[in-house]
Amino acid sequence: MSLRRSNRIVRLPTSSSPIRSKYFTPKIKKEQDIEEIPEIKEIPEIKEEIIDNNIQIVETVIKKKEEQDVLPIRSPKRRKTPKPSVKVEIESNPIPKNFHDIYNHVKTMRSKIITPVDTMGCANIPKTINQESPITQKIYRFQLLVSLMLSSQTKDEVNYQAMTKMRNYFINEAGFKDGITIESMLWIDEIKLDELIYSVGFHKRKSGYLKKTAEILQNQFQSDIPNTLEGLISLPGVGPKMAFLTLQEGWNLNLGIGVDTHVHRLSKQWGWVPKTVKDPEITRKELEKWMPKEYWKEINPLLVGFGQSICLPRGRRCDLCSLSSTKLCSNVDRGLLRKVGKLTPEELEIMNKSIRGDISNLKDIEDLV
Ligand code: SF4
Repeated sequence: MSLRRSNRIVRLPTSSSPIRSKYFTPKIKKEQDIEEIPEIKEIPEIKEEIIDNNIQIVETVIKKKEEQDVLPIRSPKRRKTPKPSVKVEIESNPIPKNFHDIYNHVKTMRSKIITPVDTMGCANIPKTINQESPITQKIYRFQLLVSLMLSSQTKDEVNYQAMTKMRNYFINEAGFKDGITIESMLWIDEIKLDELIYSVGFHKRKSGYLKKTAEILQNQFQSDIPNTLEGLISLPGVGPKMAFLTLQEGWNLNLGIGVDTHVHRLSKQWGWVPKTVKDPEITRKELEKWMPKEYWKEINPLLVGFGQSICLPRGRRCDLCSLSSTKLCSNVDRGLLRKVGKLTPEELEIMNKSIRGDISNLKDIEDLV
């Protein structure tokens, strides 16, 4: 059956130079966007054995943080001799049979569409807002962390606007030539900061976290962001998802999968993790049991963009999705497929309003399979 869909285009905010999805070509060049940011000499050399060791202790570090948050303080009388640290063995499960096929379909579709995460996702905001005046890798890392801290309960588009507003204020009103830096964050008044990020969720709490984080980074981490999981999750408001994404994008350390609401939802939909899983953190652990490491970094923006444009949380567009004509997805909206070709322009217009991104290059589904 030939399935066609509306060519409605949802334009993203752009600057003078065009931005392309990093999935625009099927073959992704790693780190191609970061190349224009000058490398700095003080990046420590990361040895293989350190990376392996970090992977071993990831679960232990997160568990410790969780225990600190929930356990009551024990009486000194009951303190026992500390036990030697326990190494957590990472379980391994077989790769789900549908994984590679679904991955290939999604990757092909994503190569044709540009979504908010491609230009306004946390890893891309520092590049997008600083196109005219490139920043150092060290400043990139800080702005990445700030973007991530603002991103919880907030859409990429809103986060992008808040980061742009903050950058413009620091440069144009306060005279900080690099915009959002540890120095400018230490300088700004918390009330003014809250005003600048007012559009993001929990802005009041986040402005406090940002001020406190800048202080900690200056005093404890030589005015840079930590390159360890433990260091990152010690910062206020930073959890495992933010920490793993910061390590991947800021330090090129691949220690865990960044699981957000889209990765969580789609992983359950395709049976990659049990459907009963409620917590994205459990989803991360389940995925890491079988997903080959080379996918850990890519899977987040791949699925986030797919969830923003095609497999929406509400009103999924199976009529645009190449998976709908396969047996790979059990959640196909058959009712919608039966209506294809019978929808009025007005009905299509309403449906298309939910799509976040530019899907104008997503033509006939048959071409993508
Ligand atoms: S539910 Fe529909 S849109 Fe989502 S992956 Fe399955 S076929 Fe595609």
